[in-house]
Amino acid sequence: MHFRANTMYTCQNQPCRAKWQSADLEFVNEGQGYFFRCPICGARNKVEPKTLADGTLVYEQASR
Ligand SMILES: [Zn+2]
Repeated sequence: MHFRANTMYTCQNQPCRAKWQSADLEFVNEGQGYFFRCPICGARNKVEPKTLADGTLVYEQASR
């Protein structure tokens, strides 16, 4: 599985707001979609899998 290296993710938990790179995170399908858990606060953050034109799979952070 390949990730776009420059993709940044922000924890949506208001007091946390930590920023992460994909290498820091694990993306898990929890049935209702894909999520990562913030390594600091444990908040679930929704992402959307997307396949780029070159076949690379990326996860884009879903906006609320
Ligand atoms: Zn967090």
